[in-house]
Amino acid sequence: MIGRARSVVLTGLTGHVIEVEAHLASGLPAFTLVGLPDASLGEARDRVRAAVASSGLTWPARRLTVNLSPASLPKSGSVTDLAIAVAALAAAQLISPGQAARAVHLGELGLDGRVRPVRGVLPAVAAARAAGVSEVVVARADAEEAALVDGVQVRAVSTLAELLAWYGSDEARPIATDPVARPVIEAHEGAPMDLADVRGQDDARWALEVAAAGGHHLLMTGPPGAGKTMLAARLPGILPDLSRADAIAATSVHSLAGTLDAGAGLLRRPPFEAPHHSASAAAIVGGGSMLARPGAISRAHGGVLFLDEAPEFPARVLQTLRQPLETGEIVLHRAHGATRYPARFQLVLAANPCPCGLFAGSGERCECSPLARRRYFARLSGPLLDRVDLQVHVLPVRRGLDDEGESSAAVAVRVAAARARAAARLEPHGWTTNAQVGGAWLRRHTSQAACRPVWRALDEGRVTARGADRALRVAWTLADLEGVAQPEREHVEQALMLRHGGVS
Ligand SMILES: [Zn+2]
Repeated sequence: MIGRARSVVLTGLTGHVIEVEAHLASGLPAFTLVGLPDASLGEARDRVRAAVASSGLTWPARRLTVNLSPASLPKSGSVTDLAIAVAALAAAQLISPGQAARAVHLGELGLDGRVRPVRGVLPAVAAARAAGVSEVVVARADAEEAALVDGVQVRAVSTLAELLAWYGSDEARPIATDPVARPVIEAHEGAPMDLADVRGQDDARWALEVAAAGGHHLLMTGPPGAGKTMLAARLPGILPDLSRADAIAATSVHSLAGTLDAGAGLLRRPPFEAPHHSASAAAIVGGGSMLARPGAISRAHGGVLFLDEAPEFPARVLQTLRQPLETGEIVLHRAHGATRYPARFQLVLAANPCPCGLFAGSGERCECSPLARRRYFARLSGPLLDRVDLQVHVLPVRRGLDDEGESSAAVAVRVAAARARAAARLEPHGWTTNAQVGGAWLRRHTSQAACRPVWRALDEGRVTARGADRALRVAWTLADLEGVAQPEREHVEQALMLRHGGVS
């Protein structure tokens, strides 16, 4: 007798429906798991046996072989526990096999027979749906997330016994227990942060608005305590809602990373991730042993990645950002193959003006040599800074300034209007924001008269050719913010000013 059930394993955000077959044969009692399981999945045998016993059923005292196919697919973790238990009990004819074979089961089993939530339920259910599956079984804590996928019937269970009774078992003994809650990995900020809290800082506020409107990456330089972090954290608040596709991708990444709050539903607002420079490369970029986990850059998908004290990040990590900045995704290579995660984010870099942080204003107290200062910024230079269109100095605000700033909601209205203008213009070229526009397009579509300040700056060696492109990109955003069809000379001049005091 063969029992069957289905489950899903994930490679990155890509789910594969797998078939779990259980075969019972006479012989000495044994439980063998085949089909490329890793050590963590091997432990499923102990969990499944204990959970079945806790549910009031007698584990078949025969030779049981469970095969997970396709065998070529690496499998890890505990998500298949539930399917393994169901297939084994169907093989033993302790439940009716038909219905169990059709559904996809996603859940870890506790030794006490409770069904525990797992990571990555949204991408797993989406994959099941794409494969034509119409019914999924999940832990109660995962039901809401599973229901985000249309067209699938979700059955939420607290215990294995509850499911077995549904599958026709007479012996299953439901245990009275609370469903397992989803573990809380990190507490998210309560009230959204508002630009109204930022006093003064007109230049920096303006740079933030331009960055939001054009999708430009931004570098803020300034001494510690000037408010760079406070400003960066308010960028998501003036960005538009995520598109449906980005919302699904972002929610899937956070589900897999274990950073999705229970009951959060689909993430609609751009996320904000601010990894510390001492964090591991795996934590920032993604990685881990066998199945690569998404890192901060993928959790920032659709939103903002903020690197405070950016020159302090390991060069290797900064280098790795080139790929997502170009392609919007990160490919992590592992022994069993490559794992891809989305990683399209708006990059905000913050840096002190020099290694000691005191080179501001008159710079009197700074003891860094000019060479040390150059070296400090050189860590950011090249491919990374080439993609940063905007640079702004952030200086500490004088005391006594107590006018409340303009609210994020008011700024977001202008940002949305500017983005809509840009999107309509760039749509035929496959771009959505000015930050994505290529140099050739910029030079062809910006009027000669408008370009003049840039050519002069180029002649005088004040900007590089790349710097000229960046200024033109920003000039288009300034025109979009003003609601005019094309940048004029003053927009280009302003764009050059916005890069004033930059580091390259
Ligand atoms: Zn210094």
